[in-house]
Amino acid sequence: MENTQDKRSEHIVLATHQNLKYPESLPLDWGNKDPIKRAPVVASQTNPRARNAIGSHSGSYAVFRALSIASGKYSPSHRPDLNNTFSPVKIGPHPSWFDSTKMVTVDPLGLDPQNHFKEFFDKGYDIRPSIAVTQAHLQIPEIHDAIKAGRLKPDGKVILANMDIKVTKVAIEPVWFLPGMAARLNVDEGTLRRILYTESGGMHPELITRPDLKVWLPPIGSTTAYIFGNPQDLSNPKIELTCRVHDECNGSDVFGSDICTCRPYLMYGIEHAAETAQKGGVGIIVYYRKEGRALGEVTKFLAYNARKRQEGGDSAATYFKRTECVAGVEDARFQEFMPDALHLFGITKIHNLHSMSNMKYNAIVGSGIEVVNRISIPDELIPQDAQVEMEAKKAAGYFTTEAPKKGEELAKVKGRDIE
Ligand SMILES: [Zn+2]
Repeated sequence: MENTQDKRSEHIVLATHQNLKYPESLPLDWGNKDPIKRAPVVASQTNPRARNAIGSHSGSYAVFRALSIASGKYSPSHRPDLNNTFSPVKIGPHPSWFDSTKMVTVDPLGLDPQNHFKEFFDKGYDIRPSIAVTQAHLQIPEIHDAIKAGRLKPDGKVILANMDIKVTKVAIEPVWFLPGMAARLNVDEGTLRRILYTESGGMHPELITRPDLKVWLPPIGSTTAYIFGNPQDLSNPKIELTCRVHDECNGSDVFGSDICTCRPYLMYGIEHAAETAQKGGVGIIVYYRKEGRALGEVTKFLAYNARKRQEGGDSAATYFKRTECVAGVEDARFQEFMPDALHLFGITKIHNLHSMSNMKYNAIVGSGIEVVNRISIPDELIPQDAQVEMEAKKAAGYFTTEAPKKGEELAKVKGRDIE
């Protein structure tokens, strides 16, 4: 049934508009080592005839761009002036960039595309970066506390005398190579495309009418990496690497809401990442916009209420169940794609992984990255109101302090993910 439908839509496409709608479209060869043969992702609207991807740049902000255009404040023909926008540090290329299976949700050539695609820029293609790199200083109260407590010391290099931490930060917009994603999820591409089309309310009909377009820029949030130390050291397995892969929790991360351990764990990861960089290693915090286990804040707050109002009060025993009752699943983050951001930096070995999540751990080692130590949050950093979360983790057999040997990790470490 599914195959029949796919074939039918493919036939309609071939018979009607494939070469009429996008006659200047460059065919993409995902993973090809030669950028010119790989070709740039072109999803801008200034010349629809040149598009070779579904969707639009800027993730969820494409909707706000549309509002700017609708209100007459933004010209739909505007092209970005990329002069002086390039990365201040060299990142890649890494072997992972040219493996069509390692990175299926990030476009490594979306970083400074001017360097890879001059020929196509010169021909007038409106190619836009999907990755940007810049440098900044972080001023964080918990880090100031760590310095005052003597756990960290300013060194003038990573941590300045005024307690600022120097970082390189990398913004990564989603660029989804649909055949690679289907393979990783173990579903056929046609089924994946049809469900994405249906569940987004038919937002992008090309998901089902243009099976020849293999890349989709989904209207979702981006990912940000904060790097402590030299970004080029991330790909050197001999240099100690401390890494936290953190899923957004706005309530805790930004507002200090005390029902979970998200901000304390994030701050502990930053402290350790900075400390590792000071010792000659390197640290990275990757921040994924997957609020409330990627179920969103409305679902999350509904589940909080349901937990607190149930008979007997909030308890570890029903922690997962209440979310599942409200949302339909207990978790929708799909960590299968999370390691793609690590492969952007050529990471092959993580010495200290700050995560108690087995789903994250399994995804990382399953993608070919070695993990030496897993670091859990110290007890003194757990807020009182987050005890239910921690008890639920314990009850689910969630804690894993010893990293299994490479190759046996997937079978050996099994558990639920609630981080
Ligand atoms: Zn949280």
